[in-house]
Amino acid sequence: MANKEPVIQVKGLYKIYRLGQERVRALNGVDFVINRGEFCSIVGTSGSGKSTLLNMLAGLEKPTTGEIIIAGEHMETKKENQLVAFRREHIGFIFQAYNLLPTLNAIENVALPLTFQGVNKKTRTKRAVELLKLVGLSSHIKHKPTQMSGGQQQRVGMARALVVEPEIIFADEPTGNLDSVTSEEMMQLMRRVVYEQKQTLVMVTHDDHLAGYADRIIRIRDGKVISITEKTEEERREMAESLRAKAQEKKEKVRGEQKG
Ligand code: ADP
Ligand code: MG
Repeated sequence: MANKEPVIQVKGLYKIYRLGQERVRALNGVDFVINRGEFCSIVGTSGSGKSTLLNMLAGLEKPTTGEIIIAGEHMETKKENQLVAFRREHIGFIFQAYNLLPTLNAIENVALPLTFQGVNKKTRTKRAVELLKLVGLSSHIKHKPTQMSGGQQQRVGMARALVVEPEIIFADEPTGNLDSVTSEEMMQLMRRVVYEQKQTLVMVTHDDHLAGYADRIIRIRDGKVISITEKTEEERREMAESLRAKAQEKKEKVRGEQKG
């Protein structure tokens, strides 16, 4: 990444909630930049302002004051219908609770965002199958959510977020309902896929260890950024290399099991 291109810029961001006479400073002056192609984690304890921040980045809530510039466009001045269009075009979401439709199988769930874009059924199905393959679920394309594990459901959730080829993916505690081993696998998968597809991923988590998978780690406490750490080019390459090796190892293990 010799040419760093900011894809998300946050300047002087405040969000103050009023509850009767009380004021809660959920975001208390936040500034940062995220570059295109980065995996960024926003980490902090419960109540530190992570979800508020992510909702504001995605244009789901308006800031009290401050600027949010995403892919060159100001979010804070957009009207609701413009925000809807902007999200549809640029943004994918991965939710903690997966948010899959229980009556639809994996292909249908993944293909759903494409129906809203008017893509024909044949193309939708083809794209959905490709994405399910990308997240390692080729053998579960006809399964319904209840017939899959939590980890598999979250992979479907990820494929659904990716199917519209968003520039930016937001994930709020995406492994919040997964055990630690499955969470690690999910992190490795997200990192690899985002790299391969040259997307930008912003993940919110309370988990320091999982946050460590990111290129850029923004720590927040009481609505303020307390530190921003960035991996060097070399550290990023090393991490990508080790994840590729791990993925390869796993593939070979699966092949070995299928043979034997
Ligand atoms: P996190 O996601 O890090 O757990 P949140 O962003 O959800 O934190 O919340 C940050 C602070 O803002 C908390 O003190 C929370 O109680 C408060 N808060 C969040 N949403 C609202 C709301 N809609 N009304 C009032 N206070 C809120
Ligand atoms: Mg939260």
